[in-house]
Amino acid sequence: MSQGGRIEQGLAGWRALVRWLGDVHSTDYLVAKANDFRLFTRIALLITAVFLSTTVIWDHAIDPVNARHTIRLRLIESLALFVWLAASWNDIRARLARIAAVSMPLVVSFTFILVLSRLQNGAEYGIGGFLYFFIFLPFLLVGQSIRFAVSSLACITVFPMVVASLGVSAGLDWGIYNAYVWMGFVPIVGIQLLCEYLYWRVSVYRRHVERLAVTDELTGLANRRRFFIESERILETHRRSQRRLSLLFIDIDHFKRINDTYGHAIGDAALCHVAHAIAPDMRGVDLIARYGGEEFVVLMPETSHRAALIAAERIRRAVRDTAFDGWPDGERALQITVSIGVASYRPVAEQTPEIDTLIQNADAAMYQAKQAGRDQVRGAAEPPGQATATFKGGAFAPSRAP
Ligand code: GH3
Ligand code: MG
Ligand code: MG
Repeated sequence: MSQGGRIEQGLAGWRALVRWLGDVHSTDYLVAKANDFRLFTRIALLITAVFLSTTVIWDHAIDPVNARHTIRLRLIESLALFVWLAASWNDIRARLARIAAVSMPLVVSFTFILVLSRLQNGAEYGIGGFLYFFIFLPFLLVGQSIRFAVSSLACITVFPMVVASLGVSAGLDWGIYNAYVWMGFVPIVGIQLLCEYLYWRVSVYRRHVERLAVTDELTGLANRRRFFIESERILETHRRSQRRLSLLFIDIDHFKRINDTYGHAIGDAALCHVAHAIAPDMRGVDLIARYGGEEFVVLMPETSHRAALIAAERIRRAVRDTAFDGWPDGERALQITVSIGVASYRPVAEQTPEIDTLIQNADAAMYQAKQAGRDQVRGAAEPPGQATATFKGGAFAPSRAP
């Protein structure tokens, strides 16, 4: 490979790394990760707190005479972990939890230095104890962002030297200390990055599967499952705020004929064509979904019945007027049209909107449009029995819903 090619490859690798670091620090990713690791972190903190309270055994092994002077300090270490646990109980990414995640290990490090200073030959025997931070911290911080975890580990590694410069030291040999900790720091950070990469791979795959579960494979629109999940959320806000909303039920006319005449592949292409003709006319807040075979639904938040009828008419025209170029040999064999039923919810005392009722009403109105000759828009009565608007072929005419 030429030198230019190698530089190009190096730059591409660097750009991919920067992109990846951006991805693993995005809010969505971090929120999902914190949720996934909440229980794990709680249990890991609890185990570490218990472990720290048992280190009096270790102190006793080093210096049985002075070990009793370290008991209180060891309890403070354990308590620091309980404080961290309490601060991160609900959300390990909360500000307080993150403050605890940085400060409590420093408390433990500080008390550990005091412990070593109270034991005979504590600095000599205990220097390896600093490596315990590398054993526990990567697990305790695994639910945080990788930047946070690595920075915290770096902080805890330089902390004893900072404290020593302020006059609190157990008489540690800094040559040995640095050799110990930095030889541990580098591979541990490497393994942390590897773990982050593995979790990221799994989360990318999970997001992909989650998207597939709520997406209609053929048209790329929301599927029925997503429609019902999201519509419930939209309806709930309308119930509370007593605002209007409308639903369109769209059915392709004589779709069976397309399938029967040209085959399913062209039928599928015609379905996508209709989906794409509907979508541009909708607002970002509208929820469009493929409801069934050749049926689509659009839930329009904060939309009156009249506004929904106008939108439905725009869709009807868009489908009719957008040429489908999928016919064999470019032949425009059949006109693709849709019939649309519109149902609305208007806040009335003691009336709560239900998605099933809206669908039933819009479906009934759509059925009327079919019976009246197809390629038209019908509105369900709102409230029952009241005159409602109907569009046919662009002409506006009042009619009476069932
Ligand atoms: P109408 O105007 O009364 O709605 O007549 P229609 O032919 O559209 O209605 P009908 O319910 O009789 O036929 C719907 C057809 O849609 C039947 C079914 O084979 C077809 N269909 C449903 N899902 C798909 C799909 O995913 N791809 C294709 N190509 N066809 C589908
Ligand atoms: Mg149908
Ligand atoms: Mg149909």
